[in-house]
Amino acid sequence: MNKQLHAVSPTDNGLLITKSAWQQALIDAITEPEELFEILKLDKQHLDKAKLASQLFPLRVPRSFATLMQAGNINDPLLQQILPLGAELNISNNYQQDPLDETAANKAPGLLHKYKNRVLLIVTSSCAINCRYCFRRHFAYDDNNPSLAGWQQAIDYIQQDEEITEVILSGGDPLLAPDRYLQQLHDMISAIPHVKLLRIHSRLPIVLPERINEEFLNWFSNSRLKPVLVTHSNHPNEISEDVRQAMQRLKHHGVTLLNQSVLLRGINDDAITLTKLSQRLFAADILPYYLHTLDKVQGTAHFAVKDSQATSIYQSLLANLPGYLVPRFVTEIAGQASKSPIFF
Ligand SMILES: *Cc1c(COP(=O)(O)O)cnc(C)c1O
Ligand code: SF4
Repeated sequence: MNKQLHAVSPTDNGLLITKSAWQQALIDAITEPEELFEILKLDKQHLDKAKLASQLFPLRVPRSFATLMQAGNINDPLLQQILPLGAELNISNNYQQDPLDETAANKAPGLLHKYKNRVLLIVTSSCAINCRYCFRRHFAYDDNNPSLAGWQQAIDYIQQDEEITEVILSGGDPLLAPDRYLQQLHDMISAIPHVKLLRIHSRLPIVLPERINEEFLNWFSNSRLKPVLVTHSNHPNEISEDVRQAMQRLKHHGVTLLNQSVLLRGINDDAITLTKLSQRLFAADILPYYLHTLDKVQGTAHFAVKDSQATSIYQSLLANLPGYLVPRFVTEIAGQASKSPIFF
């Protein structure tokens, strides 16, 4: 979590407030490759490379999420999303540091305005889990972490553009911020009459479902703004009973629940896994929203799925599932008016 967020956290007011369970779980996350190898009984021959790769982008995984991984299996699909690998050190042609050219859309500190009617706020710099394929692994977060007062420019920007009806809280993971901070940010946004929707993009409800507590539900659902939560899950094994219960709480509070996934080699690059993911999501009251292709970021080339294979997987999904359980298959092309659908 960044310094500015700490500056507004309740403890700084001199009050001794005990940490929420989710905050303690974050502090207790696994960050040392040695410990991960120990807990999951992994073959130590991969340890040196894991340490090396974790120097470029640290290992981070909540303990409860690690319990969903199969011990002794280096190819476990949840493990493969977080395990630092030697392959990340390879330099690949056509893979860049900022493939989406997000700097061009950076209209105010912490604000990205790429698409009509909606803006995205980068609320925090860090995540509860570090996904090895993430396009944000090289993002220049240091310029994008305003304190609450620092949001004024972004708020002014939204205020002067009456076409903006939706504000998206993203990151990093916006739900790493304390609820008090988020509530105040929410209050600034909901004071702008033309904003109607508040959307949160977060992987926390999946990797740390206890984050969906009363405090969060209170400010998010008792709002003039219609609440939307877009989770990020890539594999059916991620949808645990705890996740299902967290989603039920959100549903009872009237939150619209959607999910986005990334198509990843060795993790979900087959129709059976993705079919099961859609079914598990729906059983947890979440509708599949997007299936993204991998963004071409340095150090992630080993996750890429060939176009021909992606096409055949998607055709199987269309055949296997009712239309409402087929995520839109999209890619992101710099300069386009939206995410770009992949057509056949
Ligand atoms: C993906 C994205 C959005 C949201 O796009 P939707 O198609 O509405 O989900 C908004 N802003 C930015 C900068 C994005 O990258
Ligand atoms: S932004 Fe999302 S995909 Fe990237 S590391 Fe954080 S949780 Fe993972």
